Amino acid sequence: MIEVSQNSDFSLQNLPYGVFSTKHDPRPRIGTRLGDTVIDLAVLDEAMFFGKRYNFFANATLNQFMEAGRSVWTEIRQRLIDELSKTNYQIKREALISIQDAQMHLPVAIGDYTDFYASREHATNVGIMFRGKENALMPNWLHLPVGYHGRASSVVISGTEVVRPRGQVARKDAPPEFSASRQLDFELEVGFFVGKGNNLSEPIAIENAREHIFGMVLLNDWSARDIQAWEYQPLGPFLAKNFATSISPWVVTMDALEPFRVFGPKQDPTPLPYLKVDSANGYDLTLEVTLQSAALESPQTISRSNMKYLYWGIDQQLTHHTITGCNLRVGDLCGTGTISGPTEDSCGSLLELTWRGERPIQLPNHETRKFLEDGDVVTIKGYCQGDGYRVGFGEVSGKILPARN
Ligand code: CA
Repeated sequence: MIEVSQNSDFSLQNLPYGVFSTKHDPRPRIGTRLGDTVIDLAVLDEAMFFGKRYNFFANATLNQFMEAGRSVWTEIRQRLIDELSKTNYQIKREALISIQDAQMHLPVAIGDYTDFYASREHATNVGIMFRGKENALMPNWLHLPVGYHGRASSVVISGTEVVRPRGQVARKDAPPEFSASRQLDFELEVGFFVGKGNNLSEPIAIENAREHIFGMVLLNDWSARDIQAWEYQPLGPFLAKNFATSISPWVVTMDALEPFRVFGPKQDPTPLPYLKVDSANGYDLTLEVTLQSAALESPQTISRSNMKYLYWGIDQQLTHHTITGCNLRVGDLCGTGTISGPTEDSCGSLLELTWRGERPIQLPNHETRKFLEDGDVVTIKGYCQGDGYRVGFGEVSGKILPARN
């Protein structure tokens, strides 16, 4: 029997998918997770656990599994739940691996990465700092989910170290300089994977949007604020955000997240019909960010937020993305944008938490932070709380390394 504590992110109700390898068998393959045990689905598949062979669990990415479609996702999940619910379930011993012995890999071959800007609180805070109170929210913001096309090549798995980027930074009364970023930041986000694409010129209708999403991960969209402030007008972020985006290794399925849907903030003005949603399209997902400096003995919580604060839902983001006829493909990743809440301690970035460095964060050992220093480790955790169980994401973590010359 696999033990699962009440506080484990990985309950029987969760069963997320990830790609792992072991020392004993270094081939990356697909597994699910229950408590601190990884279940090797390639071994189960070979033993005809599912009543037939799927053959895609031995793959090094989830893409082919995702491509199989929703009925297969549900079928596999149900078979796992049915068997693992039994007290004497029949699962080969060799399929059960301790999480300590598993090396996690990027779970998906990501074709394209798009990042939205869906938190009203975040957009307002950044707008005030970059453009002043009068121009905080741009005139389009309440009418459409603002986003930009990001960079898929630099999406990395949790644990990957992040080298401080260098770039052009503005100076007062002088030409810009080329410098290591002095305002390196994190962004607390959730990412979602496209599990069913659409054909070119065939937009996804809002009522079908959720059907196209396979699952979600935690996402840290590392950002260099000084580079961003100089480059972002008129076309938006470019180098300030293309050097690294970290994601958590376990993809939590939409089936597992279904019980945690909640209504998001009231949308006023009412969105245009193609974006209008009447159902609960937010998620009650508790989020937390910790920071640990090289000198600190344990991580310090610096932000507590929740995905339910997002103004634009992920269904609205997905539909808006395709409304021109843009085709999404299986394995594409979308980020929600920084998830900031209504209170000061629920801001999802240091830019907001320190108000661009004006109010430094105090760490328990008397260090302060305006932005990230070399050696800092930022970790995002998140979970949905059920009745006596959790559906959680584990964590996405990354350590800052010095800039390279
Ligand atoms: Ca972002």
